[in-house]
Amino acid sequence: MAGIELLLNQGAESPAPLCPHGPTLLFAKINRKEQETRRFYACSACRDRKDCNFFQWENEKVSVARLLAREEFNQSRQPPFTHKQYVERYQHFVSLPEVKRIFCLDCQLLLLPADWDKHTSHQQLGDVSLHQLKRPSKLLLPLENKKTNAQYLFADRTCQFLLDLIVSLGFRKVLCVGTPRLHELIKLRQFEKNNPVIKSQLLDIDFRYSQFYSEEEFCHYNMFNHHFFGEKSAFEAFRMFMCQDNGVPIIMVTDPPFGGLVEALAHSFKKIVATWKTSQNEDDELPIFWIFPYFFEPRILQCFPTFSMLDYQVDYDNHALYKHGNSGRKQSPVRIFTNLLPKTVILPAEEGYRYCSLCQRYVSSANRHCEICQACTSKDGKEWKHCHICNKCVKLSWFHCETCSHCVLRDHSCGGARSGCFICGSTDHKRRDCPDTLVQNKITEKSRPHKRKHFKMNKKDVTTKSKQQAQAMSTGKKKTMKRITAKSKKKKKRKSKQLC
Ligand code: SAH
Ligand code: ZN
Ligand code: ZN
Ligand code: ZN
Ligand code: ZN
Repeated sequence: MAGIELLLNQGAESPAPLCPHGPTLLFAKINRKEQETRRFYACSACRDRKDCNFFQWENEKVSVARLLAREEFNQSRQPPFTHKQYVERYQHFVSLPEVKRIFCLDCQLLLLPADWDKHTSHQQLGDVSLHQLKRPSKLLLPLENKKTNAQYLFADRTCQFLLDLIVSLGFRKVLCVGTPRLHELIKLRQFEKNNPVIKSQLLDIDFRYSQFYSEEEFCHYNMFNHHFFGEKSAFEAFRMFMCQDNGVPIIMVTDPPFGGLVEALAHSFKKIVATWKTSQNEDDELPIFWIFPYFFEPRILQCFPTFSMLDYQVDYDNHALYKHGNSGRKQSPVRIFTNLLPKTVILPAEEGYRYCSLCQRYVSSANRHCEICQACTSKDGKEWKHCHICNKCVKLSWFHCETCSHCVLRDHSCGGARSGCFICGSTDHKRRDCPDTLVQNKITEKSRPHKRKHFKMNKKDVTTKSKQQAQAMSTGKKKTMKRITAKSKKKKKRKSKQLC
């Protein structure tokens, strides 16, 4: 099978060329005979050429003129202000009386009186309150682009659960990597009395957050190449956060885009761990919550063998299909992976989780303990059953097909080509019919209405232009599955064979 594979740790002698999103990643084309053909560099953050079309063969000679043009282009794609400037603007903004506090919806920018002239034809939100400034994830338009939905914000229920969990586990510092809403909730909590102080730092590629947070609270960061944008001070702020207050328990919480590149993420997270370790004993482990769909379990465990997957279903606000509505429980395929002892992570009984004393972990109510597998085996939160021929548990809707000699969906094409689903790797359906539609929708959904009930001005929907601007401002969750490696497809196939 031909494909593209990510190569890590290769650029020691010749550093990777830079795109607007920092150092690019090295990929190899693999041909049908599983032989590497040619290597090339491409953008780490954007899985869509429309968002970043950087491409360079590994051995390509690049002229000085082209290098200069590239540098100029990269510069032109950086934020219009430095973080320091954003902080000054914010201080000025909050000092204005509420009637003069205007947020430009088209530019996603807090405006100062000197900017007003330039934005008169733009859609604006007036009377921005201090409370609104404390909830930037509700003020900012979630980033989208044509192919993919970008930002998936936690539903309040999930965000509150995560925060309560973090507090009850005794953590007093949180490194939020791509979790702006959690960061925001932690900070909001400080305003309530008698709460233990919890420090939080947000690392995210969405630089619009620089408008709301100090350099200690936010770093403009790319988690696919561990690149800190802007001044050196961003990395220094991160290093300080990780290494100061020695002995104060810290946890990292991350909710990355769900495209491929699990290995690139793990590589970055290991660098985060390494920075923290410079101030710790050698065998301490940095506690981590990595939020990701359950069908990535094998690949995450390969990178972090000490992790376990919890049954808790992570819910999102701006995803119609997976909202926890009144009409009953919708299933979300997104889970928490952690190196904490699973039994210490208590899942809420009122949401239907129970404790399995044999597995020593909290599981979904429908997840039954299989005597033969000696585990609560369901991955999707629904009931599973044991197949004695496959010698493993499978989804209830599957049956054992003699011809295929494994468990499959009833209406499968018997003995048919075993090219699996591109999204979950399962061989019983194609990508278009993938039941894991959260991810599918992230890939194919074209547009999504943005809830703006908090906006006082009831203007028409945000223009295409403003969406483009928002996109230009940052890369959000950008992924098509194009770049999932040949290897990982194979692994998925193998996994789905086991799953049968
Ligand atoms: N559920 C989270 C948001 C997850 S959406 C919450 O509610 O807080 C994914 C987040 O990762 C977004 O905030 C997005 O801006 C960020 N992100 C996307 N690509 C990134 C990258 N390459 N590096 C760092 N952050 C990224
Ligand atoms: Zn790029
Ligand atoms: Zn069990
Ligand atoms: Zn079983
Ligand atoms: Zn079977």
